[in-house]
Amino acid sequence: MRLLEHADLSAGNTLALPCVARYLARPESLEEVAAALASARTEQCPVRVLGEGSNVVLAAYLDALVLQPANRGIRCLEQTDDTVLVEVAAGENWDAFVGHCVDKGWYGLENLSLIPGSVGASPFQNIGAYGVELADVLEDLDAVSLQDGVAHTFSRAQCGFAYRDSVFKSSQAGRWLIWRVRLRLSRHFRPQLGYGELQQQFAALPAAQQDADGLRQLVIRIRQDKLPDPAELPNAGSFFKNPVIPAAQHQALKARFPGLVSYAQPGGDWKLAAGWLIEQAGFKGLRDGALGMHARQALVLVNHGDASAEQVRRFAGRVRQAVSDKFGVTLEQEPVLFD
Ligand SMILES: Cc1cc2nc3c(=O)[nH]c(=O)nc-3n(C[C@H](O)[C@H](O)[C@H](O)COP(=O)(O)OP(=O)(O)OC[C@H]3O[C@@H](n4cnc5c(N)ncnc54)[C@H](O)[C@@H]3O)c2cc1C
Repeated sequence: MRLLEHADLSAGNTLALPCVARYLARPESLEEVAAALASARTEQCPVRVLGEGSNVVLAAYLDALVLQPANRGIRCLEQTDDTVLVEVAAGENWDAFVGHCVDKGWYGLENLSLIPGSVGASPFQNIGAYGVELADVLEDLDAVSLQDGVAHTFSRAQCGFAYRDSVFKSSQAGRWLIWRVRLRLSRHFRPQLGYGELQQQFAALPAAQQDADGLRQLVIRIRQDKLPDPAELPNAGSFFKNPVIPAAQHQALKARFPGLVSYAQPGGDWKLAAGWLIEQAGFKGLRDGALGMHARQALVLVNHGDASAEQVRRFAGRVRQAVSDKFGVTLEQEPVLFD
C-alpha cells in the first residue's frame, strides 16, 4: 500500500471544500491498516478516518494521516428460513450494498437507499431515513483501535446507538476504525411504511411494483426530488440534527408558534423539524457569498462555489444564532469538522 503525501481531498468530500492531507492511506487489509498506523507513530502524526466524505467539513490542511478503508466484500454468514446474517466490508459503497441486498432477497434496508457514503461510516452516526435506522438491523461490527491497532468486536448494545449517534461519534470519538459490519436482515419483505408520504406513494404503485425493489426505487425517486445532488450542488445532506426537547419546552413553543413542526418521541420528549426552524428564522434559500441554505430543503447547507471550512463555520454559526434567538433552541451540527 502506498502512503500518499500531500493528498488532495478536494474531490473526496461532497461539500467540495478544498483540502490537502499530509498523508493518505487506503488500506485493503488489516495488515495494511497496521502498517499505516506504524507509519503514523513513526511520523508522530495524528490519524483521522475518512469514508466517502459525505458528512464532513474539511479544513484546508489536515496535518494528519487520513485512513480511508478500501477493503471490499459482501458475504452471507448464516441463513435461516427467516433471516440472513450478512457481513460487509467498510470500504463498500452503502447504496450499492443496499441494491445488492434487494437483488439477493435480503430485506430491511430499502428505506436507507441512496444515502451517500461508505458502509464503514454507517454505524458512526447510525444512519437513518424514512423511519429506519442502521441500529434496527446491525448485529455487531469489527473495529480496529487507532491507538494500539488491536481489533475488537462491538455488539449492537456496545455501539450505544441513538438518533444520528453512536459511541464512535461521541464517547469513543477518534478512537476506532470500523472495518467490517454484520447485519441481520429478513428473508421476508415487510415494507416499513410508518412514514406517511412513503405509505401513500407505495400504495399508489401498481401491485406488481409493490415489492422491495419497488420500495427502493420509490425512496430513490423521493430523495432525488427533495435533495440536491452533491455532484451538481455540493452539500453534506442535513447540516443540523433535528433537536429533541422536553415536553414542557415543547408546550411553551407550540403556544407561541402554532405551526411548529414536531414529532412525539418515546419517553415524552419532542423532536422538532430543524428545517422548519431554519425556514422560520429566514434562512431558507438565503445565500451569503458562496454559501447558502437550499431553496427547497432549508436544512441543507450548499456550497455554490469556492467556500472554505472557515466560511462554513461562520455561516452555520449565523444560522444557529438566528434559530436560538427566535426559538431558544440550540441546533447541533451533523457533519464532523476535520481540522
Ligand atoms: C445528499 C446527502 C444526503 C444524506 N442523507 C442522509 C440520510 O438520509 N440519513 C443519514 O443518516 N445521513 C445522510 N447523509 C449523511 C451521510 O450520507 C452519512 O453520514 C454517511 O454515513 C457518511 O458516509 P461517508 O463514508 O461519506 O463518511 P464520511 O463523511 O467520510 O465520514 C463521516 C464521519 O464518519 C467517520 N467514519 C467514516 N468511515 C469510518 C470508519 N470506517 N470507521 C470509523 N469512522 C468512520 C469519519 O471519521 C467522520 O467523522 C446525507 C449526506 C448527503 C451528502
